[in-house]
Amino acid sequence: MASIFDTKIEYLKGIGGPRAELLNKELGIFTYGDLLEHYPFRYEDRTRFYKISELTDTLPAAQLLGKIKSVELVGGKGKSRLVATFSDGVASMELVWFQGVSYFHKILQIGANYIVYGKPSLFGGIFSIQHPEIELYKSDRPLPKYFQPIYHLTDKLRKKFIESKTFTQWFRTLLPLVQEHIHETLPEFLLKKYKLVSKKEAYYYLHLPRSPLEQLHANRRLKFEELFYNQIKLISLSLVRKNEYPGQVFNKTTLLTKFYQDHLPFDLTGAQKRVIREIFGDLKSGRQMNRLVQGDVGSGKTIVAFICMLMAIDGGAQACMMAPTEILAQQHFSNLKKFADALELEIRLLTGSSTKKEREEIHQGLITGQIHILVGTHAVLEDVVQFQNLGLCVIDEQHRFGVAQRAKLWEKNKKLYPHMLVMTATPIPRTLAMTLYGDLDISEIDELPPGRKPIKTVHRFESSRLAVWGFMKEELAKGRQIYVVFPLIEESEKLDLKNLFDGYENIRAAFPEFAVSIVHGKMKPKDKEYEMQRFKKGETQIMVATTVIEVGVDVPNASVMVIESAHRFGLSQLHQLRGRVGRGAEQSYCILMTDYKLSADTRKRMETMVESENGFYISKVDLELRGPGDLSGTQQSGLVDLKLANLAKDEEILKIAREEAFTILQMDPSLSMPEHKAIQMHLSRIRNKSLSWSKIS
Ligand code: ADP
Ligand code: MG
Repeated sequence: MASIFDTKIEYLKGIGGPRAELLNKELGIFTYGDLLEHYPFRYEDRTRFYKISELTDTLPAAQLLGKIKSVELVGGKGKSRLVATFSDGVASMELVWFQGVSYFHKILQIGANYIVYGKPSLFGGIFSIQHPEIELYKSDRPLPKYFQPIYHLTDKLRKKFIESKTFTQWFRTLLPLVQEHIHETLPEFLLKKYKLVSKKEAYYYLHLPRSPLEQLHANRRLKFEELFYNQIKLISLSLVRKNEYPGQVFNKTTLLTKFYQDHLPFDLTGAQKRVIREIFGDLKSGRQMNRLVQGDVGSGKTIVAFICMLMAIDGGAQACMMAPTEILAQQHFSNLKKFADALELEIRLLTGSSTKKEREEIHQGLITGQIHILVGTHAVLEDVVQFQNLGLCVIDEQHRFGVAQRAKLWEKNKKLYPHMLVMTATPIPRTLAMTLYGDLDISEIDELPPGRKPIKTVHRFESSRLAVWGFMKEELAKGRQIYVVFPLIEESEKLDLKNLFDGYENIRAAFPEFAVSIVHGKMKPKDKEYEMQRFKKGETQIMVATTVIEVGVDVPNASVMVIESAHRFGLSQLHQLRGRVGRGAEQSYCILMTDYKLSADTRKRMETMVESENGFYISKVDLELRGPGDLSGTQQSGLVDLKLANLAKDEEILKIAREEAFTILQMDPSLSMPEHKAIQMHLSRIRNKSLSWSKIS
């Protein structure tokens, strides 16, 4: 059934065909409904008028009323600028144009009143605004005072004089036209409980606010709505899953007791014990486990995984562990093999480079149940790999594997899906994790094993280059190895590669007595692997590389990480890179090299790195600086489709929204109670909309 919100925008007074076409193309706005949901991303306060004497150069923008006293063209041919002296009757300042000089020269009227808006800056004791917004003001009407919502626009729209103010005009027409049809999408009791404005008010306050307070009310209400529906969808997914898939029950502890008594090489940390308990709870529950374990590099996830494997094996099942690269799979294999051998368990490694004979043996051993643990790369996903009874899958480094791959592992045991344990070394704040991985339960190993020496992190400028090299020489002389990492991004690939090769040559020249490796993304995987292995074996002492050095690669003797152009890396990325040192007994160092001139953001990133080694804390700061869209993994997930809410800044609203969504779904999973009608109706509207979208795309 068509509703007024499906009306094509060309029918709105003031838009018409050609503009409608532009809005379709540039902003994806086709209907009245789309227009309503084109939210402003900030507001300009045009309620206040400043006196020139009140200006400071830290003000982001100011609005002033005054007269143009004089206009003057300054500078030679081709480079001229227009400078107008502007006075509010008490003091004066300058308005400056570098573009549109002749146009403004023509239209500016000396002695007339103007309303001026822009960012003031201070030069030689005089305030000026470059390219101000300027509007003639006739004193026969009252001073306009308003909040201007600012909308995303494109150059093409601006060329056709479609500005934020144009949107405001359209909303003045549109809102009265549709207001009677705006459905309330939240139940009455939630509006009351949290003092949220109605949906209709929210649209008015968002697009036509009369005060900052109205705009705040609109934002709070709409953010709540977004997060609430986001959580309703996620939680209903996970409730469905929990009800639908039974799992094998593992509760025998014979193997485990033997391992604890005779072979456990160290005491587990409190966090490891807690996470193991959480996992055991799942393994005993009779439901299939889908759990994410977050923990910094070095927090000891491997042994946790192994202990859980023992539960599965004791219960007569098999376990497998999958890693994203061959080098990581090998590393896991050799670590786990020590434990497995001690308990006389059969463990095998399957990767792309396993020989045909090995493969056949492995396939056979898995079917007969002779092999207890399989470690491998993507190779384990192949259809020929079949188990007698797969009971537990461990996936290391979550963000490299998608949901589809997890599903493939599920299919390896059709009788009862295997329990899934996903491990990630890029911890993200719990609230974000709950949203991103709504289909996984979450455990956190938020404590490092004792006795680990903190990595010393320092921030150095280019001017200290020689001192840094001197320090590197000392460490090399002690027999240590060093990583030197360069940024490489697609947009500036050529220049980045040049910097990398220049850096490599400089280092070879500065450290002639040492062997230097180089590894970058343009190399063939085989060559990369070969070079990594050389470094790992200690045949080379310095590794010059882009970020390709794998997460989790273990070279205990590498104790110094130099990050070049550190300002070009995100915070979480810097933390990941640093995690590649600090794996041995020696004191480790991380040196962040940057330009002298830094933005406030960059300074914050460097400071955070220097002061903290806690991945949970670092990702929280990262989230605050960048917003969730940029965090690794979030782009692909498709779960975070938020227009207003920011998962870093709106944690409080998210918590409440999640709690309410949870309570409602537990009480009324089908949302059939009368007080939940608004929710059910809105969900079916969202569903229809995404259905029609999937037909289009
Ligand atoms: P992660 O995979 O979480 O990065 P690992 O499982 O590789 O970390 O563990 C890092 C190192 O710490 C390994 O050498 C491991 O044997 C050791 N380790 C793990 N847990 C403990 C513990 N409780 N006490 C001491 N050392 C531990
Ligand atoms: Mg690991």
